[in-house]
Amino acid sequence: MIEMHDVWKTYPNGAVALQGISVRIDKGEFVYVVGPSGAGKSTFIKLMYREERPSKGSIFVNGFNIERLKERKIPLLRRQIGVVFQDFKLLPTKTVRENVAFALEVIEASPKKIRTRVAEVLELVGLSEKATALPTELSGGQQQRVSIARALINNPSVIIADEPTGNLDPETSWDIMRLFEEINNRGTTIVMATHNKEIVNTLKKRVLAVEGGQIVRDQKRGVYGYEN
Ligand code: ADP
Ligand code: ADP
Repeated sequence: MIEMHDVWKTYPNGAVALQGISVRIDKGEFVYVVGPSGAGKSTFIKLMYREERPSKGSIFVNGFNIERLKERKIPLLRRQIGVVFQDFKLLPTKTVRENVAFALEVIEASPKKIRTRVAEVLELVGLSEKATALPTELSGGQQQRVSIARALINNPSVIIADEPTGNLDPETSWDIMRLFEEINNRGTTIVMATHNKEIVNTLKKRVLAVEGGQIVRDQKRGVYGYEN
């Protein structure tokens, strides 16, 4: 489902972010990506949805050859991958429903299909009652639920999340993690960069530890392994 072979990434300013990453993530896995700040976690994640391109090496996601992918094919890839960010990245002037519907409107899905699907994903994340609210009217946890609903709208086979609980208090973080677990239990692969030691050590999953742009540890049901 996701396969990297000897992937290197050097940014234009010369910063070497990844040095020879090889990894395989199968369908249905839940994977934490941990490591110190500057280790290369975000870069590793950005390569998967083609926000960044590798300098060297091969990356396959859902059969897409990432380094050869033509610009005009990027939307096709992104429809099969949901992305969730630490800072939510919601459109501030659009309602919850509009934020979630956006990706379906872009592909000109029928109004009926949009209505049905938006209702489904809002139900799944527990926000049906907030469909007409604006993001500013919601708590951080609710905003993250909206962004998860948006990521799910095209029924992607993979969800990629970069520090999704980074801006949330501990209790809300747990709620959001339970939601990710539920999504994973329905068969969606999840790859999540996180600094949340308590969550990683409690909800045991596969752990990829990245340091200095390399995978230094790959454990099934692993531990966080850093002071923080
Ligand atoms: P992490 O997510 O683990 O904090 P990053 O992938 O953000 O690590 O960063 C890895 C290295 O690449 C760091 O040295 C960082 O400064 C550098 N880096 C990340 N993004 C860029 C960028 N857009 N341009 C230049 N250097 C970058
Ligand atoms: P994170 O906490 O997710 O690692 P950062 O705060 O490191 O994020 O980076 C925020 C943004 O700045 C990212 O999009 C990253 O690519 C970019 N960035 C990080 N380091 C550098 C850098 N040295 N030069 C330019 N851009 C960078």
